[in-house]
Amino acid sequence: MSENTVEKVIIIGSGPAGYTAALYTARGNLHPLLLTGNEIGGQVAITNEVENYPGFPEGLTGPELVEKFQQQAEKFGARIEYDWVSEVDFEQHPFVIRTSGGNEYRAETVIVTTGATPRRLGVPGEEEYTGFGVSYCATCDGFFFRGKDLVVVGGGDSALEEGMFLTKFASKVTIVHRRDELRASKILQNRAAKNPKVEYKWSHVVERINASGGNGNGTPPKVSSVTLEDLKTGESYDFPVDGVFVYVGHIPNSQIFHGKLEIDEAGYVVTDRRYHTSVPGVFAAGEIQDQVFRQVVTSAGQGAAAAMEAEKFLADLEDSTYQAILAEHGRTAAVAA
Ligand code: NAP
Repeated sequence: MSENTVEKVIIIGSGPAGYTAALYTARGNLHPLLLTGNEIGGQVAITNEVENYPGFPEGLTGPELVEKFQQQAEKFGARIEYDWVSEVDFEQHPFVIRTSGGNEYRAETVIVTTGATPRRLGVPGEEEYTGFGVSYCATCDGFFFRGKDLVVVGGGDSALEEGMFLTKFASKVTIVHRRDELRASKILQNRAAKNPKVEYKWSHVVERINASGGNGNGTPPKVSSVTLEDLKTGESYDFPVDGVFVYVGHIPNSQIFHGKLEIDEAGYVVTDRRYHTSVPGVFAAGEIQDQVFRQVVTSAGQGAAAAMEAEKFLADLEDSTYQAILAEHGRTAAVAA
């Protein structure tokens, strides 16, 4: 990409918010460029079954939905680049975006849709045995646990939904939750209650993940148990399992925006009700700025709204200068490139 080309819109991230922003800005003739990041499609791409995205009464898999998002955006002229953004410069306008692929892009507006990543438990054995029995993706890894006993950690919608999916393979799924009440929706709780393979360890936490093998003689390690703590009694004990699936929430992917955009205490990009960030011309949508709804449909809706605001911003820019827009916002002028 030539350093002299200035894009109208660059979208960072390829989840439902990103692809919807791409669709809307493409239909607005803005010829958007979407930089996918490393996890193409975002979290929905590793979701087994999407049953609550309107328009698909039979449900569909996450990867199928992502493919449809991409096809629809490309049909109207969106360009998709498989590259990961390593640095942004919002101090100058047009904004500058650098990628791990060695590209440098310039853009009049940017829509940030980098989403969130599954939170780790942070216990001994978790990192070491990821891929050897510890997983964050039932769709990807469930198949390997046919006839096995599994633990799912967490008490939210993801833990229950993915836990039930895992019962297609596993002989038993024990949901380990730190409280004695689930956070998950009632409909999922009811469904899980009817599943004979789902059991619970209430008010328990995982202290450590243990494995056999992996002792340097060529045998890979294999998860063999978790050490659980019963929070009510304080007792710790080993619980034999073949695999551990972790669903304990998310961390927003905002690292590259620290110091560049206003970020809240939990690490989410701060936006106003119209998805404007603290920098005029930079918008954010989806889970990077939303820790409340976090649904495919809400992220997609936010992506559409951010795209509409970006279009308005570009129209203002035709009548005015970026410096003048900044002045209107009471900000110091950015460096004109
Ligand atoms: P979540 O709702 O934030 O739930 C995270 C769960 O992990 C909570 O039960 C929490 O316990 C537990 N937890 C957090 N940190 C922990 C730790 N260090 N150790 C042990 N447990 C820990 O996350 P989620 O289930 O991934 O859901 C995220 C969002 O996506 C939600 O808005 C959810 O509604 C949505 N979602 C929707 C669907 C659907 O509609 N079908 C499916 C999946 C996800 P506490 O309860 O004690 O806080």
